[in-house]
Amino acid sequence: MVDRNRLIESFMEMVQIDSLSRREGRFAEYLRSVLNDLGMEVTEDGTAAIINGQTGNIVAHLPGELDAPVLLFCAHMDTVEPGLRVKPKVRDGVISSAGDTVLGGDDKAGIAAIVEAVRAARTEGLRLPAVKLVFTVAEEVGLLGSKNLDYHLVGRADMGFVLDGDGAPGKIIVRAPSQDRLVATVHGRAAHAGVNPEQGINAIQVAAKAVAGLPLGRIDEETTANIGVIRGGQAINIVPDKVVLEGETRSLDDRKRAALTARLTRLMEESVHGTGAEITIEVEHLYSSFRLDESHPVVRAAVKAAEAAGLQPVLEQSGGGSDANMLNAAGIPTVNLAIGMEKVHTTEEYLRIKDLMDSCRLVYSILKLASEGDLG
Ligand SMILES: [Zn+2]
Repeated sequence: MVDRNRLIESFMEMVQIDSLSRREGRFAEYLRSVLNDLGMEVTEDGTAAIINGQTGNIVAHLPGELDAPVLLFCAHMDTVEPGLRVKPKVRDGVISSAGDTVLGGDDKAGIAAIVEAVRAARTEGLRLPAVKLVFTVAEEVGLLGSKNLDYHLVGRADMGFVLDGDGAPGKIIVRAPSQDRLVATVHGRAAHAGVNPEQGINAIQVAAKAVAGLPLGRIDEETTANIGVIRGGQAINIVPDKVVLEGETRSLDDRKRAALTARLTRLMEESVHGTGAEITIEVEHLYSSFRLDESHPVVRAAVKAAEAAGLQPVLEQSGGGSDANMLNAAGIPTVNLAIGMEKVHTTEEYLRIKDLMDSCRLVYSILKLASEGDLG
């Protein structure tokens, strides 16, 4: 069975090892030795060089003793800022930081849960199918780890479980949107605002008009758009020659997102037309959506395991992307499991020990059911 104290101890140990995005080197080294001790074969892929990070993704294999669906568990190693020198505190069944950093339970709660569940299964000598663990880098800065993951190194996996969802354990995310990033640059012409303004083209005014005409916010129940950053101008006495706008589109439907991105682009171009300014728009497709229906084997497995762990399974959709988007796009059907982390990305982040335990018991349940050939 899962060992509560060992789980808490290992979580506390993990959050005290710094691992900001692209700087997960020391944490990866720590995980390597933990996974080696569990008898897993551990490799690192080549992502470090691609993203200019300290380490690539960590991929660990447990050879199977059972001819059953190959399982994959995934969580990300990186944490957001302020995330250096985390000093975790336990009080009344809750773990939090000292208040000057995030806790880093996003996503070390997921990693600790996976590691302890595998440890418990190994200690008990459960006969398991092949199990693969993927610990990604740089998730927080655009899913860079899973985007560049060496899927040949991972090999076949029939069911994927990412542990990186908010909400109470038992919540299973089966749908998540796709996302595009738009960066629009309006080029006007600089001039002295008092001496020769007629020779200038005010990029701020052109950009303002372009933004004012855009459909933003909630477009329909599964589609949203936002302009989130505007940058430009140098001084009040200079007609500004350049403004940069950054925005995004999301939808649970890939075609709607693509159509919306195209529409925003066209509207901005039309709005600039005839002003003398020019606009260049770069679009980057960040990740694709996924949608798994309730009869899908990986969804049924997650539901069954949640029930076996005494949790209430709830199928939900998410408003954001996770490593599950990338794994699904790579052909590994993957759900994202909620792990109870609260107020993530703030210095008030906390984690209930009960939720940490429940996430761990859920992973253990998946392994246990698999060992009994009873996951389907
Ligand atoms: Zn996360």
